Amino acid sequence: MIKSLRGMNDILSEDYGRFTYFINLATKVAQNYGFHFIETPLLEETALFKRSVGESSDIVGKEMYQFTDKGENDVCLRPEGTAGVVRAFVQKKLDKAGGTHRFFYHGSMFRYERPQKGRLRQFHQFGVESFGVDSVYEDATMIMMVADILKKCGIGYRLQLNSLGDQNCMPQYRDSLVSFIESVEDEICEDCQRRKTTNPIRVLDCKNTHCQSLYVNAPKLINSLCGACEDDFTKLKQILDTNGIVYEIDTNLVRGLDYYSKTAFEFVSDNIGSQSAIAGGGRYDRLVEFLDGRPTPAVGFAMGIERLMELIVMPESPREGYYIGAMDSNAVDLVVKLAQSKRLTNKVVCDYKAKNLKKHLNAADKVNAKFCCVIGENEKKDGTIWIKNLEAKSENIILLKDF
Ligand SMILES: [Zn+2]
Ligand SMILES: [Zn+2]
Repeated sequence: MIKSLRGMNDILSEDYGRFTYFINLATKVAQNYGFHFIETPLLEETALFKRSVGESSDIVGKEMYQFTDKGENDVCLRPEGTAGVVRAFVQKKLDKAGGTHRFFYHGSMFRYERPQKGRLRQFHQFGVESFGVDSVYEDATMIMMVADILKKCGIGYRLQLNSLGDQNCMPQYRDSLVSFIESVEDEICEDCQRRKTTNPIRVLDCKNTHCQSLYVNAPKLINSLCGACEDDFTKLKQILDTNGIVYEIDTNLVRGLDYYSKTAFEFVSDNIGSQSAIAGGGRYDRLVEFLDGRPTPAVGFAMGIERLMELIVMPESPREGYYIGAMDSNAVDLVVKLAQSKRLTNKVVCDYKAKNLKKHLNAADKVNAKFCCVIGENEKKDGTIWIKNLEAKSENIILLKDF
């Protein structure tokens, strides 16, 4: 028997209900905020992710599904969604057109990771990207959008917030952080020693507890922000306060790449163990430029759908539509004809095999139909149909022309 690849799941039955419930709900929220759907290819040039996600990252360094296609192109399956959307934005010359462009997407992402609970090699993300708005109100709106989606899903969360500064204040901070790292260099882990030269900011989110105990004394970026970054961060907190969004400041919430700036945020859940981030995002004002576009302010977020699925509180789904079946094989043609006419405006499930009433009632119950409708020999002769309302538990025989 051929099985699915490791870390790649089928989504069906009950999972499928949760999956589509989430996609529909998040789509509705995104549309309410004025975002439009964008679909980008699963396969892109490897260079796109090397330049956007960064060669020093684990994602690009170790986890990409990268291969040479039959035309000798170096390609890979997308490990995340932002790069493709930015590429499309630049390719369509929307950066040159100016104005505001807001997109949402959802789909499969691929990372060759060690499969474990909550981590798949093919997983799904829902995300949004906004281009052309340099106002911190847009950052706040992103956060409120995630909060909206989580609230509608019945998912509790903690929101963590940080500012990453900008080109003005980040370099100075980086220097002071490197000096600090040097003062504790003998005690930090190997990864952090490597990060000191490749990507010093990333030491701050090292998972090693001894490292963390040392970094408590590290200089904090939010204490080194320049006037403009400081004002934006203060304003952001004020907007969130005004709109009833509770947050905590996490000075270790960092992104390793130069194109990220100012707002960084993460929504975490305490209900799914160590893999606790359920959504993350922030401002990336320089990425468009990194991908050869005209400098364009941008902000976005992404949510991991599989992690959310186990937390979603599903509403009870009411009975809906019709189940139509035949008790006599001569009536099957009629059943199909009735089903087709009803389907113009209703959900209809029908069965093509003649069965007894009890079996039809069970089948109708299984598909959560509101009405179980059955035609037997007598009904066919009389031009009638037997109907049971499974909600009200009432039975009726009516003329077919009234059905
Ligand atoms: Zn470390
Ligand atoms: Zn600054």
